Amino acid sequence: MNREFDVLVVGAGPSGSACALHLARNGVNVIILETGRVPGEKNASGGIVYGSDVGGFGLKRLVPDFETTAPLERKISSHEVHILSAPDEGKGTYRYYTLSRKSLASRFGLFSVEFETGHDYTILRSQFDSWLANLAVEAGAALSTETTALDLLKEDDGSVIGVSTTKGELRAKLVVDCSGVTSTLVESAGLRGTLVPRQLYHGIKHVYRLGAEKIEERLRLRAGEGKALTYLGEFMLGINGNAFIYPNRDTLSVGVVASMDSMIRATTERFDRVGKLLDAPLTTFLKGSRAS
Ligand SMILES: Cc1cc2nc3c(=O)[nH]c(=O)nc-3n(C[C@H](O)[C@H](O)[C@H](O)COP(=O)(O)OP(=O)(O)OC[C@H]3O[C@@H](n4cnc5c(N)ncnc54)[C@H](O)[C@@H]3O)c2cc1C
Repeated sequence: MNREFDVLVVGAGPSGSACALHLARNGVNVIILETGRVPGEKNASGGIVYGSDVGGFGLKRLVPDFETTAPLERKISSHEVHILSAPDEGKGTYRYYTLSRKSLASRFGLFSVEFETGHDYTILRSQFDSWLANLAVEAGAALSTETTALDLLKEDDGSVIGVSTTKGELRAKLVVDCSGVTSTLVESAGLRGTLVPRQLYHGIKHVYRLGAEKIEERLRLRAGEGKALTYLGEFMLGINGNAFIYPNRDTLSVGVVASMDSMIRATTERFDRVGKLLDAPLTTFLKGSRAS
């Protein structure tokens, strides 16, 4: 691969494919590099696409008919935030308070659940990312999968002229880094230092197959309808973050997102407590010993 492009986009996630789609439609000679075998193979998110304008941009503006053409799961009719207590001793039950657009706290402006855009859907990224990348390709963008950008190619004056990849060097007038939050290219460009725990959240997500009927019965949904459930509060045991349940057609996306620094703090504190419990027996066992 030694062709020269106008623009080289690293990463075929939503930002990379959206960028390439917009450029290709405007006649720009653009290539997307994607490390996965197919776009979406390596991507995870809770699974909600906020379809209408957020801060001036939105999927609906880029792909006006996305609601009929994209691989969407369920339309979200309500976003609910549940504040959960820690589990009651012994019983394993929780106390909770639910906030939604209709709840008093929202109506009095004490808490906002105004993140819904009216065009929000649950999605599975493996399908959604492939769909969006394919639109970019249909518009004329090139897509090179199983291609990892390794580093930036720079002139002596530091200006970026392309990237080195696992398949050779590629040159372009402009490189757009859409390789996600853990990007090393952005560090190599001198635009950001190495991320530290307080800047990072870690997310874990599972998808459970349950069947449409049971999902609708348990979450009290009409056929095909969806809702977004977010959980905050004491049940996180002092870790900053939240948990979520998002219903898809016949699966549930369930996950937890937690800030790295509070996770490290909580683990260390617990570890310290474990250490304390061992103090008494250890003192007896280790009496008279020396650290080697
Ligand atoms: C648990 C969790 C839940 C979330 N829930 C939501 C949600 O419900 N709704 C929402 O809007 N956002 C959610 N997010 C955030 C969302 O995942 C990100 O904002 C989104 O994925 C960013 O898209 P992106 O295209 O910038 O990057 P990414 O989705 O990270 O895509 C980057 C792409 O670049 C590729 N890549 C990486 N490095 C290279 C390289 N060197 N060379 C070539 N290719 C490379 C990757 O394979 C990937 O395809 C969630 C995040 C997490 C972790």
